[in-house]
Amino acid sequence: MNELDTHTFRFAVAQFNEAAEAMHLDGNLRERLKLPQRSLIVSIPVKMDDGHVEVFTGYRVQHDSARGPSKGGIRYHPHVNLGEVAALAMWMTWKCALADLPYGGAKGGVKVDPKKLSRGELQRLTRRYAAEIFPLIGPDKDVPAPDVGTDQQVMAWIMDTYSQQVGYAVQGVVTGKPLSIGGSLGREDATGRGVVYVTLEALRHLKLDMADTTVAIQGFGNVGSHTALIMQQAGARVIAVSDESGGLYNSKGLDIPELLRRYREHREPLREIKLGEPITNEELLQLDCTVLVPAALSEQITGANASKLRCRILAEGANGPTTLEADRILTEKGVFIIPDILANSGGVIVSYFEWVQDVQRFFWKAKDIQDRLQDIITSAFHRTLHFSVEKHTTMRMAALMSGIDKVAQAHLQRGLYP
Ligand code: GLU
Repeated sequence: MNELDTHTFRFAVAQFNEAAEAMHLDGNLRERLKLPQRSLIVSIPVKMDDGHVEVFTGYRVQHDSARGPSKGGIRYHPHVNLGEVAALAMWMTWKCALADLPYGGAKGGVKVDPKKLSRGELQRLTRRYAAEIFPLIGPDKDVPAPDVGTDQQVMAWIMDTYSQQVGYAVQGVVTGKPLSIGGSLGREDATGRGVVYVTLEALRHLKLDMADTTVAIQGFGNVGSHTALIMQQAGARVIAVSDESGGLYNSKGLDIPELLRRYREHREPLREIKLGEPITNEELLQLDCTVLVPAALSEQITGANASKLRCRILAEGANGPTTLEADRILTEKGVFIIPDILANSGGVIVSYFEWVQDVQRFFWKAKDIQDRLQDIITSAFHRTLHFSVEKHTTMRMAALMSGIDKVAQAHLQRGLYP
């Protein structure tokens, strides 16, 4: 499959191969798991506001479903392609297995810049995309969720489109929905909260104090902004944040609630808000800080800048932010890496809670969600740490190997059909 062969997909496969090699994974299984189980490419004609029809390309890739329905977000971004979606789907498989959720991995995407569409155009694009991927999705088959460029409104339109097709309200078909249609308390900030929970464990492990901790965060979308807020509430000093246009730095700590208010409500460009000094994204990555959280797109920390990083802990809020070469450089430098499939798993963990509540039609309190999230993600952190110490390997390899092993067990036990 030629279209799969992109940079990000090769990166995900190389990472998988390294883990598969280290764990002596069965060769036949290796052949299967380095490819997605099912990939769908769709054309999405959309009537634009000026009357002309524009055709967008969309994807839904299910990497694996041996352990349960496949699960993963939908990304709207101009750079989306089949290889990237397939890489993200593969990471979802390992992520769900590592957290012990009864899910396989999937991902979807549309090649579009959502910021350039009107609300009407966005709704028509979403509904047509949902109609095109309809045969693949469903509460027992494949359950989408938000990702870069999508939000609860987009999920509501997908839920409605699916429900219209089958003739009744199906809440469990997507997660990350508004509360009024079966969304869960605590889903909105779940990824950021998870990043903070695992960072707290890493600080404890390294015998560092939260009160002396400084944090720099790349990306100020759903993951970055909630991570910033919850880090501050937990007692850390958030000294820098950024979005794609650049960032802000304040050595005394940024006033995150005020920053968020002006960013969200007044839509002021981040680097122009006078709560700190403007810095570039590259400068942010190289700041002297305790914790660096890349919470934007993949492959931001590369062979070119990794040696300049000055953080003690790298907590990967984004999927795939660190290239293989950068990973080696950081490991040599002694940076403690909390890998993406562990650090950002809070999102899919609370998605799982949302889906359970939807299918049982029984809803939980906010405290239940937070406690259960902390319980699951903290145990996953300690299992990974234990594995890495026992097997003398990195946190990333430990996380990948434990995830892959659970998927492999499921495949071996189910056997090959026919
Ligand atoms: N898009 C998020 C991720 O990459 C959440 C996926 C989900 O909740 O299914 O983990």
